[in-house]
Amino acid sequence: MTLVKVHDKQFHPYLTQTMIHDKLQETAAAINADYAGKRPLFIAVLNGSFMFASDLFKYLTIDAEICFIKLASYKGTKSTGHVITAIGLDTDITGRDIIVLEDIIDTGKTLSQFLPQLINQQPASLKIAVLLHKPEATVYPVHIDYCCFSIPNKFVVGYGLDYDGLGRNLPEIYQLHE
Ligand code: 5GP
Repeated sequence: MTLVKVHDKQFHPYLTQTMIHDKLQETAAAINADYAGKRPLFIAVLNGSFMFASDLFKYLTIDAEICFIKLASYKGTKSTGHVITAIGLDTDITGRDIIVLEDIIDTGKTLSQFLPQLINQQPASLKIAVLLHKPEATVYPVHIDYCCFSIPNKFVVGYGLDYDGLGRNLPEIYQLHE
């Protein structure tokens, strides 16, 4: 097994490029069927989803739009705690069919805070597509419509996901080698 070093830790190969692309084609086929005749707007959450969004988008055969946002967490009032806000969502989503693209759902906290903000804007429909989901780590349940891989609760890097800013360029997904 070939280990790779990202920053100060060793990682072993976990999901190959072939596994990822096979699953993306399968997911895109499901989206193509579900949205036939529609024109969904994909909202990809940066930074981690950039490769996932880019590759999935190439397998779509329907009319589709995409925009990229960043989620920023800031300290709100005592009662609201930390608040998630979307940066770069400049498209009106009212009445639109929305598909959120996220790299990984871990605790589910980020999306469970962000999704109500989208729902407030009254999209026609709202679905979630994720590359990776860690069911054992999820404490804030999020309904996932398209999940490429359910994975154990271990840290992963590559294919857009980073460890301390590094490793996003790896074309496959690696798991922390313990
Ligand atoms: P959640 O709010 O679901 O707990 O966390 C989501 C975010 O945590 C992801 O968008 C990602 O940035 C980060 N994250 C969670 N697990 C991992 C992991 O295994 N690897 C990497 N690189 N990031 C992770």
